[in-house]
Amino acid sequence: MSGSEVIERPDTEAPIEGKEPIVRFEKISKSFGELDVLKEVDLDLYPGERVAIIGPSGSGKTTMARLLMTLEEPTDGYIEVDGRQLWHKEVNGELVKANEKHLHEVRGDIGMVFQHFHLFPHMTVLKNLMEAPIKVKGQTKAKAREEALAMLEKVGMVDFADQYPARLSGGQQQRVAIARALVMHPKVMLFDEPTSALDPETVGEVLEVIKEIAKDREMAMMLITHEMSFARDIADRIAFFDEGKIQEQGPPAKLLNNPETERLGEFLNRFG
Ligand code: ADP
Repeated sequence: MSGSEVIERPDTEAPIEGKEPIVRFEKISKSFGELDVLKEVDLDLYPGERVAIIGPSGSGKTTMARLLMTLEEPTDGYIEVDGRQLWHKEVNGELVKANEKHLHEVRGDIGMVFQHFHLFPHMTVLKNLMEAPIKVKGQTKAKAREEALAMLEKVGMVDFADQYPARLSGGQQQRVAIARALVMHPKVMLFDEPTSALDPETVGEVLEVIKEIAKDREMAMMLITHEMSFARDIADRIAFFDEGKIQEQGPPAKLLNNPETERLGEFLNRFG
């Protein structure tokens, strides 16, 4: 980015003054064959900011998450994480991927929590949390264990440290999955519908844990969710996706109470 470029600040309540975005989606397009899933989407996420992504099924929300995780490549546009560009356009218009080292670093900056928890089934809860810090970051076992137990305490799961995931409820597994992402100290936490596979009675406990960790104003959070009241409570900014575009974005109070577009009004009537 050139020093003279003026960044258009999003309408957000997060303390972003003087900060550069930690994540930038720049004119991102993604097609699967004939299907244009994302169409020139621009989205910036600032350090400490909490952005909720809402929108109907099939509007491209998960594809945004997968692009950020480098699980998909864009058809056009680029993504920057902490100043590192994941793809760039060559002179002849081809998209070129960043080198593997670069991609590896970026993946290390992002923690992801999926709808289905994806815990390692053959490891205890504690081992699930110790695996990446030891294998990826080269932490000592003692240090990894100490941090893992502290994180389990934070999500209310320390008493289950020696259990295997299959013995836990969905809500408990998701709390462990959140703790597992957090022990890597990501700069960005990405949640893709973290409660939509849960029994209704365990949704609340997971949302509470996410609210608790959202108090950390260093880490940015991108939350794809169908829980409108949760988005209202937690987000600084909500982005409404429909048909592969951000149709509207802004602070929750404005967006949810006074939608400007007919599409969002209709969506909120159905889900709000
Ligand atoms: P959302 O998360 O908003 O429900 P998605 O990003 O999951 O939407 O999907 C958007 C559209 O892209 C859907 O129509 C989906 O079927 C399609 N899609 C997603 N991934 C693939 C893929 N790997 N191949 C083909 N189509 C895909």
